[in-house]
Amino acid sequence: MLALTDGRSALDRNHLIHAMNPASRRSLLDMARDAAANAYCKYSGFAVGAAVRSVGGRVFVGCNVENASYGLTSCAERNAIFAMIAAGEREIAEIVVYTPTDQPTAPCGACRQVIWEFGRDAVVVMACDGAPEREQSIRELLPDAFGADNLSPGEPEPARPR
Ligand SMILES: [Zn+2]
Repeated sequence: MLALTDGRSALDRNHLIHAMNPASRRSLLDMARDAAANAYCKYSGFAVGAAVRSVGGRVFVGCNVENASYGLTSCAERNAIFAMIAAGEREIAEIVVYTPTDQPTAPCGACRQVIWEFGRDAVVVMACDGAPEREQSIRELLPDAFGADNLSPGEPEPARPR
């Protein structure tokens, strides 16, 4: 294994860099755009991609998946967030949403609610092919939100089986 001048191996160095500098905004945007290329959107033709960075520094992507039974369609944002949950992470630091439009597009109401569930301090970045990215907090996008506090104040989430 290649030793670096400071004595750490290249593998250690890469791990350290990854830990200190999680996916940059630009790479998140690229991942969201790549995910949009896989969107299953034969009915709307509106291909959306999302990339979520968890507080733990991991990145999860999603695209919209439509269905002939339209109501079953699931948005890119929620699909990315659910992948994060399946991987054992629970908190969103940042979510980048890419739409193939001239202006940035904000997440739908359902996705705002799900972002709120898993990231009260989440930053939402809206990217497109035209105007520069727009950035807003989920608090701005979903003011006066309904959440867990409205149901059982102060009750912690049940422990997950390991
Ligand atoms: Zn949505």
